[in-house]
Amino acid sequence: MSQSSTLSPAPVAGTRDTSRHGGAPLLVIGAGPKAVALAVKSSVLRAAGFDVPEVVAVERDRTAANWLAGRGWTNGRQRLGTLPEKDLGFPYDCTTWGEPQDPVTGEIAQRMAGFSWAGHLQDRGLYARWIDRGRPQPSHREWADYLQWAADRSGLRTVPGEVRAAELRDGTWTLTVEDGAEHHAVHGRGLLVSGPGPAAGAVPADGTRVLDTAGFWKLAVEGFPDWARTVIVVGAGETAGTIVRELALGQDRKVTVVAPRATLYSRGESPFENRYYSDPTGWAGLSEADRQEFIRRTDRAVFSQEVQSDLALTSNVSWEPGRVIGTRPADGQVAVEIAYGERHLVHRADLVVDATGGDALWFTGLLGPRAEDALRDALGGAVTRERIERSIDASLAVPGLPAPLHLPNLAALAQGPGFPNLSSLGLLSDRVLARYVPGVPTDDRAAAGARSGGRTAATATAHGLNHMDTWGAVQR
Ligand SMILES: Cc1cc2nc3c(=O)[nH]c(=O)nc-3n(C[C@H](O)[C@H](O)[C@H](O)COP(=O)(O)OP(=O)(O)OC[C@H]3O[C@@H](n4cnc5c(N)ncnc54)[C@H](O)[C@@H]3O)c2cc1C
Repeated sequence: MSQSSTLSPAPVAGTRDTSRHGGAPLLVIGAGPKAVALAVKSSVLRAAGFDVPEVVAVERDRTAANWLAGRGWTNGRQRLGTLPEKDLGFPYDCTTWGEPQDPVTGEIAQRMAGFSWAGHLQDRGLYARWIDRGRPQPSHREWADYLQWAADRSGLRTVPGEVRAAELRDGTWTLTVEDGAEHHAVHGRGLLVSGPGPAAGAVPADGTRVLDTAGFWKLAVEGFPDWARTVIVVGAGETAGTIVRELALGQDRKVTVVAPRATLYSRGESPFENRYYSDPTGWAGLSEADRQEFIRRTDRAVFSQEVQSDLALTSNVSWEPGRVIGTRPADGQVAVEIAYGERHLVHRADLVVDATGGDALWFTGLLGPRAEDALRDALGGAVTRERIERSIDASLAVPGLPAPLHLPNLAALAQGPGFPNLSSLGLLSDRVLARYVPGVPTDDRAAAGARSGGRTAATATAHGLNHMDTWGAVQR
């Protein structure tokens, strides 16, 4: 696959030189929205005079691959669930980097606006038409175009290849990257893991009558077979929701959804619920039980309001509460065994789609022995999802490792529900990059303290140095 940005030739056989811009970069596994948002913010901050690391993504496919047809998550025509204005810079509160009235804060906000969704449409000459069409939700393919555009403009450097291993050495991360027959090492001062991970799977897929999410979208792109008149979809989150919509409305098939709870719940999307996604102020002060309940109501195993209103147009969808515990062939169909408490029942369908989502701990399979030991020590015990979720600090990293390991996809419980998804990519970037600038607090409350007079000499110097030329340049 072609990449818009490539690295300079390796200085030593087998090693990629990633240390431009004063020091080792921040490495990101995957060139998706998180890597692009970080690259944009890093380039803007460096233009404003901050000494933040450059962002280098390692990508096995191409920028924004998961938003395109044929990669297992979409047919590219599905619509973005989040408002496109929740773009790479959202929520555009740049006060991590200075007081609200500080010119450098205004400069950062202005430069960030150049990478917005609206900025992209303006650059392509499409903005007025988009407004006139009533600001429709972009398709996943259009969203991928936006991400590619921003990656190019920000100069995101991408190492092509698949990350096979991640190890800690002398306080830095070393990734082993496989690119065709070649292996090479990439070094960085921090590592961020993006992406949903490979499908975890409630039942083994056979590629014909029992499919995983990737198998379903592959079939949808190739052309859906006539024989699949009845379909069981396992899972009740947004990955399942988009598959159910495509089957029931796009393909006119009868669908039964096996959901772990009483029914197919709608995602809570009131202004009060949405606020924690854009701005997690106060989140850490809530009890763990309240945070868990919030995530259940607004994120886990719920269909978006948009999917729900589309499904209201058809009578093709029913549901069955329970968990799928097995499948077997049955006279040209598939028999699906479902458990709900003590009750067991069997449903039959022509096709089964397992849409239960990705394995959040997939990256642990990449860790070398030193990294594994360090992670276990940092967590105070075996590496479990619960331990990691509870440990994540303000920079969205596991604290106590020799080099930062940022895990935004596991940061919802401790730091805020918007970090795993697209809800606050600008804030995510601030939290992560602030970790690398002495004196800039990653924590919102500490930042408030800094804004009210606690700014350190290092930050003040960065601001003082750049105030005159950069702000002047923006005004011109
Ligand atoms: C189809 C789809 C629609 C979604 N819609 C929304 C939405 O509307 N709103 C919302 O808030 N969230 C949505 N989500 C959820 C979430 O926000 C997205 O998953 C989002 O893409 C996460 O961004 P990311 O940068 O973490 O990863 P991704 O965009 O998933 O990118 C991960 C990248 O990593 C690469 N990769 C994976 N493993 C390796 C490896 N070992 N080595 C090298 N590269 C690797 C992949 O090729 C991929 O390009 C959606 C998810 C999907 C899949």
